[in-house]
Amino acid sequence: MKPSKVCFVSSEIVPFVKTGGLADVSGALGKYLGQAGLDIRLVMPFYSNIEAANYNFHLVQHMHSIELWMGKRRILFSVLTATLPETDVAVFFIHCPELFNRWAVYTNDPDEYLRFAVLSRAALEICQAQNWAPDIIHVNDWQSALIPVYLKTVYAWDNLFQDTRTILTIHNIGYQGNFDAGIINDLGLADFYQYFDASELYHGRINYLRTGVLHADKVTTVSPTYAREIQTDYFGEGLQDLLRERSHDLVGILNGVDYEEWNPETDKFLVANYSSAALAGKEKNKKLVIEEMGLSYKKGIPLLGMITRLTEQKGIDLFQDSLYEILSKRDLRFIVLGSGERHYEYFFGQTQYDFPDKFVFYRGYNYKLSHMIEAGADIFVMPSRYEPCGLNQIYSLKYGTVPVVRKTGGLADTVELYNWETQTGTGFVFEHYTPDGLSWALNYALDTYGHRQVWRKLMKRGMQLNFSWEIQVKEYLRLYEEVGIKK
Ligand code: ADP
Repeated sequence: MKPSKVCFVSSEIVPFVKTGGLADVSGALGKYLGQAGLDIRLVMPFYSNIEAANYNFHLVQHMHSIELWMGKRRILFSVLTATLPETDVAVFFIHCPELFNRWAVYTNDPDEYLRFAVLSRAALEICQAQNWAPDIIHVNDWQSALIPVYLKTVYAWDNLFQDTRTILTIHNIGYQGNFDAGIINDLGLADFYQYFDASELYHGRINYLRTGVLHADKVTTVSPTYAREIQTDYFGEGLQDLLRERSHDLVGILNGVDYEEWNPETDKFLVANYSSAALAGKEKNKKLVIEEMGLSYKKGIPLLGMITRLTEQKGIDLFQDSLYEILSKRDLRFIVLGSGERHYEYFFGQTQYDFPDKFVFYRGYNYKLSHMIEAGADIFVMPSRYEPCGLNQIYSLKYGTVPVVRKTGGLADTVELYNWETQTGTGFVFEHYTPDGLSWALNYALDTYGHRQVWRKLMKRGMQLNFSWEIQVKEYLRLYEEVGIKK
C-alpha cells in the first residue's frame, strides 16, 4: 500500500515565517505533495512575528492548554490551524507564548533546546489528539530531528505510530543543535541515554541532528552532490562518519524553484518582461537597475550581480584577494545586494568607495531589488565554499543571467561548465576554493561575454532548463513509497 498520510514538521514555512531556504522548501512541498493527493499536514511553531491578520487562524478543538511534561518542567500549549494559502493543506501551529514569543525565530536564549524539543513532541501529540496515524513523519534540520528518537522511546507505547516511518532532511549541516548533555532530563529522555551517541555523551554534549541521523529511517539532503560531500571530512562538520555508515539510507534530492515567482516572462518587478525567444526586454532591466543604483549605463559593458547572506559559507573571502584586480583591469559594473557579517559589509563598502564608477554595495534585504538584479545582470556570481542546494543560480539560469559558481553542492548539480569548443554548458564553474579559481571563472565569463552570438546561445540554453517543483516533488513521492513499504 502506498503511503498517503504525511506529517511534515518544520521550524519555518513560507509564507508564514521565513529566514532561509528551509521555509521555501517546506511551503513548496506542502503545496505540491498536497496536489499529488497526499493527506499532508504541516506543523510549525506559532511565532509572535507571524502576521496573524493575514491568515485565517482557528483554535483546534480539544487542543487547548495541553499539558506537556518536559522533565520536571510543565509546558502548556494550544494548537491553531490555518490552510497553506492557495491550497487546502492544513498547517498546525504550536501556540506556546512562553517559548515562541521571542525577538527572532532562532535565538541564543538558554532554552533554545527546549523550544524545538517542544515542537517535536507537540507534533506527535497532535497526531495522537486527532487519532491520525501518519505513514511518514518528515522532519527537517535539527529543530525537529528528535522526533525519530521520541517515537522509539517516549511514544513507543502508542500503537498509533507502529507503522510510522521517519525521514530527516538536512538543509544545511552547518547547524546541528549542539547542547550540554544535562538537558536530557528536560527533554523527558532521562531514561533513554542509550539512544544518544555514546562518545558525545562522554564529552558532555548532545547533538539533535546527529541523533536524528542515528534514528531516522531515511536521511535526505537538498542536492545529490551535497549528499556525497557531507560524507567527507571537509564538509561533514563532524557527522561524516555516521553519514558514511548510513550511506545506503542517504539520498540527495535537488530543491525545486517556484517559477510563478521567478520567471522573467511574468515577473511583476521588471520594467520589461522577456523570454528566451524575445530577449530584448532584458537590456531595459539592465539599464534601469544600473541607473537606480547610481552607476552609469553604457551598452556592451557587462553587469555582474550578487545577492547573498554575507557569511563565510558564501565564499566572500575569495573576493578579498581578487575583486580589486578584476575591477582595476576590466570594464564592468557590479552590484552586490546582501547583509551579514560586519567585516564583509565593511569590505564591500570600502570597495564601493574605491571604485565608485563600477561597484555598488546595497546593504540590506530587498526582495524587489533581488528580482531587478536577476533580470538586469549579465553574470551572476556565487563562489560558495559550500552550498547545500542554492537557489539564486537556478533563478539566474531562468533569467538568462549566466552563473559563475564554484563546483560544490547544488551549484555543481545545476550549472554545467561552458565549453568553448563544443559550445555546450550553461555557466562558468571553478573547482578550487581559491581567489585564482574565482578570477579564472570571472575572466572566462567576461571574455566570453564579448562574443555576442555565443553569449546569446549560452543564455538561452540556461533559460530553457526546468528545475520546477512539479518535477522534483516526484522524487519525494518515490522516496515515500520506498520508505513506506512495510518491513
Ligand atoms: P541560503 O538559503 O543559504 O541563504 P539560497 O540561495 O538557498 O541561500 O537562498 C537564498 C534566498 O534568499 C534567495 O532567494 C535569495 O534571493 C534571497 N536573498 C538572500 N539575501 C538577500 C537579500 N539581501 N535581499 C533579498 N533577497 C535575498
